[in-house]
Parts: sequence; C-alpha cells; structure tokens
Amino acid sequence: MKDDDYKDKLTDAAYKVCRLAATEQPFSGIYNDHWQQGTYHCACCDQPLFSSESKFNAGCGWPSFFAAIETQVAYKSDSSHLMQRVEIQCEHCQSHLGHVFDDGPKPSGKRYCVNSLSLKFQPE
Ligand SMILES: [Zn+2]
Repeated sequence: MKDDDYKDKLTDAAYKVCRLAATEQPFSGIYNDHWQQGTYHCACCDQPLFSSESKFNAGCGWPSFFAAIETQVAYKSDSSHLMQRVEIQCEHCQSHLGHVFDDGPKPSGKRYCVNSLSLKFQPE
C-alpha cells in the first residue's frame, strides 16, 4: 500500500502520526493510561507489535513498553528536531510508531515510547 491509500483507513490525526511521523500530544492518547491485558496491534496493518505484559508506566505521556514483540518492529536512525534518536516503525508496513530510548526499566533497559494513534488494542 502507498501512504496515500491509508488516508481512507485512518483518521487525519492517525494518518499524520503513522504515515508522516508526527507525534501526538503527550497524555492525549487513549492507551497512555490503559492497563487491560491483551495485544497492541499496528493501526495500519493489524500486525501484533506489543504485548500488555511489557507495558509500564513511564510517566512520559505516551504508552511505553520495555520490549516489542520480536521481529515486528524496525529501527531507524532519526536525527530530526536536532536530536539523535532511534525511530521505531512497524516492520510490515513502515508505519511510524514512535522512538525507543535507553532509559527503560531492567532487564531490557529500553523504553519504547509509542503513539496511541499508531496502535489498536485487542483484549485477550
Ligand atoms: Zn504495520
């Protein structure tokens, strides 16, 4: 699918985040304070990306995970906004998810900081 094709599938706000790598406002997303058991899927292609088991409260205003489901997430160096960060994308459709940082809890030490708009939750 081309980026344009997602315009029909996604809301305007989700399109900007998923296909144009925008960032939703902190504390605005529906999954920031969401603790149900289940799996977070890609909003664009429905692939499972994160398990509720790896979600933790980072207090940063975005849903945060200490691990992604293996092989489901791609990593890309991102030097926009005068910062050196690692962007995370859906491995299957290259949808923008957010960024991964090295200040997460042990043992992974990772914090996958993800936009709610990039995700679609499926309860267990
Ligand atoms: Zn995807």
